[in-house]
Amino acid sequence: VTRRHYVDIKTAIRKEALADTFSVSAYRCSPYGACAHACAYCDGRAEKYHVEGEFASDITVRQNLADVLARDLEKLREIAPIGIGSGITDAYQPIEEEERLMRRAAEILAERDFPVSLMTKSSLVLRDLDLWRRVNQRGGFILMVSLTFAEDGDREVFEPGASSVEERLEALRAFKEAGCAVGVLMMPLLPGISDTTENLVALADRLRPINPDFVMPGSLTLRPGRQKAHFFSVLARSYPELLERYRDLYAKELVSGNPSWAYRQDFARRVPGFFSEFNPLQPHRVYRDRMPIYNEIHVLMGHMAELYRDRGVDTRALEAAHGRYAQWITAEKRNFNRRRSLPPGTLDRTLTDLARGSGWEELLDNERLAAFLRRVIFDREVFDYLSLELGPAQG
Ligand code: SF4
Repeated sequence: VTRRHYVDIKTAIRKEALADTFSVSAYRCSPYGACAHACAYCDGRAEKYHVEGEFASDITVRQNLADVLARDLEKLREIAPIGIGSGITDAYQPIEEEERLMRRAAEILAERDFPVSLMTKSSLVLRDLDLWRRVNQRGGFILMVSLTFAEDGDREVFEPGASSVEERLEALRAFKEAGCAVGVLMMPLLPGISDTTENLVALADRLRPINPDFVMPGSLTLRPGRQKAHFFSVLARSYPELLERYRDLYAKELVSGNPSWAYRQDFARRVPGFFSEFNPLQPHRVYRDRMPIYNEIHVLMGHMAELYRDRGVDTRALEAAHGRYAQWITAEKRNFNRRRSLPPGTLDRTLTDLARGSGWEELLDNERLAAFLRRVIFDREVFDYLSLELGPAQG
């Protein structure tokens, strides 16, 4: 049973200080709170999110979203991706069929130039393909679908309210055919259930014909408290033979919810290999023209650290350079936010001025990286996440 709690919101857009490197979005927007997809592992149950009521039944409906969104968009000074949906609520959960908050939001977004990056486990997103296609033609659109099971048996146990595997694949297929970028969030893979060779091979086989722009696998985190307790209750009913193993894997009760170090090491060594033909993160070529260059550089440096770390490279110098860059540009941005008279593009001019001179090397403390990023900033070259090479933009 779903109980809807209608609320009026004052703001529809939350601004990130810098773009989030996971969703590659600089703004966030959500029509609902909590989620009736009722995934057994949902992070939204964790106390830190303060979601009141029964997570999968008490859904907050931000009924005036469209009006507030239209007003908020007028006030934004920079075009950058708006991230819709997250790991703790789904914009296309079942009540959207009647509420149509996303439909109205998409109508508003289709009249503007903001790129959108949407995350969902529901094929209901297909209803609005006409509008998202228009968004794609203007600012750009990326559909990210979370998919971890190749077949529906376990999917029904762990994601009872979400769309079937076939429906989600169909959504990916249709958006890709419509010219949108699509990505697969292959998380969380469940130890001994969906992280198995059999499931991973089958998933790669099912995704190959669709050719998603990226496939991002991730392991299961269980934060101590409500999230972990709920998952264990589902596991006890469906896979009692795995309880002991899960107790061991999550025995440390880490605040992050991470499994044991040994499991994470094994996961990192084993899982990405099944998907080596796909980009492991949203590729640079997709997001590069959808945001100001200062944010593109921030996302790129974050992604480079992940990519090289995954290949066993020592990334401490790169991460330190990224930290200094983020600190510098965040301070510049604070100043920009305070001074409403500064025109859009101010921060990119500040960046290019610095990158032209020796201050760039000083900030990054790394000559090779400084030269590499100059090719991105001034020559608009593109970094390929599979070959790890920088080259001219295609097409
Ligand atoms: S679809 Fe996402 S937000 Fe909804 S219950 Fe599942 S994991 Fe949570």
